[in-house]
Amino acid sequence: GGAARLYHAGEDAVWMLDSGSVRGATANSSAAWLVQFYSSWCGHCIGYAPTWRALAEDVRDWASAIRVAALDCAEEKNQEVCRTYNIHFYPTFRYFKAFTKEFTTGETLKGPDRELRTVRQVMIDFLQNHTEGTRPPSCPSLDPIQPSDVLSLMDSRGGRYMAVMFESNGSYVGREVILDLIPYENIVVSRALDGDKAFLQSLGISSVPSCYLIYPNGSHGLINVVKPLRSFFSSYLKSLPDVRKKLLSLPEKPNKEENSEVVVWREFNRAKLYTADLESGLHYLLRVELAAHRSLAGAELKTLREFVTVVAKLFPGRPPVRKLLETLQEWLASLPLDRIPYNAVLDLVNNKMRISGLFLTNHVKWVGCQGSRLELRGYPCSLWKLFHTLTVQASIHPEALAGTGFEDDPQAVLQTVRKYVHTFFGCKECGEHFEAMAKESMDSVKTLDQAVLWLWKKHNAVNSRLAGHLSEDPRFPKVPWPTPDLCPACHEEIKGLDSWNEGHVLTFLKQHYSGDNLVDTYSV
Ligand code: FAD
Repeated sequence: GGAARLYHAGEDAVWMLDSGSVRGATANSSAAWLVQFYSSWCGHCIGYAPTWRALAEDVRDWASAIRVAALDCAEEKNQEVCRTYNIHFYPTFRYFKAFTKEFTTGETLKGPDRELRTVRQVMIDFLQNHTEGTRPPSCPSLDPIQPSDVLSLMDSRGGRYMAVMFESNGSYVGREVILDLIPYENIVVSRALDGDKAFLQSLGISSVPSCYLIYPNGSHGLINVVKPLRSFFSSYLKSLPDVRKKLLSLPEKPNKEENSEVVVWREFNRAKLYTADLESGLHYLLRVELAAHRSLAGAELKTLREFVTVVAKLFPGRPPVRKLLETLQEWLASLPLDRIPYNAVLDLVNNKMRISGLFLTNHVKWVGCQGSRLELRGYPCSLWKLFHTLTVQASIHPEALAGTGFEDDPQAVLQTVRKYVHTFFGCKECGEHFEAMAKESMDSVKTLDQAVLWLWKKHNAVNSRLAGHLSEDPRFPKVPWPTPDLCPACHEEIKGLDSWNEGHVLTFLKQHYSGDNLVDTYSV
């Protein structure tokens, strides 16, 4: 369960891919593909979804040449395929050229700029980068033609419209108009550069971009648009007499949502911590998030070892789960290898459980981390709760870390969490923000109690940064936590300002994230 939908087949212009379709769609395709591998719980992916939908809508008419698609790596059925494509962070953007025969993981879209216009221009560059003969058949040439070619077009009398977009070297308007007109018949669009000023003058062109049109009967002249913009040119050309949209035979897009899930709301107590959330989080972490890595070596393996050690020693959950974590920790510690395939971790987690009756839920179930929609809250919420639980357990039971090399280190849990987040947390943007906060002030933590408060403060800083974002669940507004109703003593008024009483906050956190506050009622 827990599958979320950021995109809706049938409603959005985005092509929805999954484990069953991605390979077939992108292999030897007559169109190129741009696929966003995302994760529906990743706040940044949620925030980006409107841009992706708008892009797909904007280039809908380019679909026989290039398609905008999305694949949700948070769905368990897709985890294997996301691993095959080497997706470690979300979102990851990959291009697939038309007519690729061999399996490929695609070309990664580089650079930080994901604005709609930038991505659209990169799509054009990508189409142009196809070698001759492998360009999608429906994609006209995007390279500029020469003045002599324009002259011969005028002489050719092809019986249909021929439009030439004149533009400067860096302009994309011409190529956009060419692609916009792909599904239209009775018209061919090409582009020419403005290098030869005398030639432009002879055609009466005084500014670029401009569109010179040759009519089916051989007459020709500049077209008049109010603004020299893509949409004005495209719409002018599309509405010429006898220019009509072709019926394109594109492969069917699935338009029915399979197994759309209904959110059933379960009442719960916000003052409690639920076993189901922590265990579901661990399940997701071990079976899905780590699964993004085919094998673990070097610093990654070290980070995993340390993280599993800290969790095994400090996790306050049910004995079978603690036993499982301990087994995993011992196994990782005893391994002489410096590289292990992820499948070995998975096998251990699954087999140990089967053999010894050790138990970790094998599907996610959120209680205190329920969202009012499927894509909201869930995993990242459980991860925060797990991290807070670990800092609190370390401060209540410092002896638990004896013999691990972490004893006497007040920053042990924080540094381990920091490395986990930076190395494995699929939301890359989150990891970078967290790392920046850690760099700035984690060093100032000198006691285990300060570690508890540091994480609390930083979590509130994240809350206030994310307030109002699309990933905010309206039922769980991002406000300073704990709220006055949860902890009246935590709040006081100093000179008329709501202020924290950190002593009471510490007491509250130590109670809230203690084993005693953990409720099994909703365990699986
Ligand atoms: P969450 O913020 O996930 O909190 C979960 C629960 O923890 C709350 O319901 C409450 O019970 C408790 N809680 C709340 N505040 C505190 C506190 N200060 N101290 C202790 N307990 C508290 N998303 C982004 O879009 N961009 C980011 O950069 C980003 N960075 C993240 C970094 C990390 C390390 C993690 C784990 C997540 C990050 N996220 C980020 C996800 C985001 O913080 C939320 O987890 C997500 O939006 C779900 O929100 P939520 O409403 O469930 O509350």
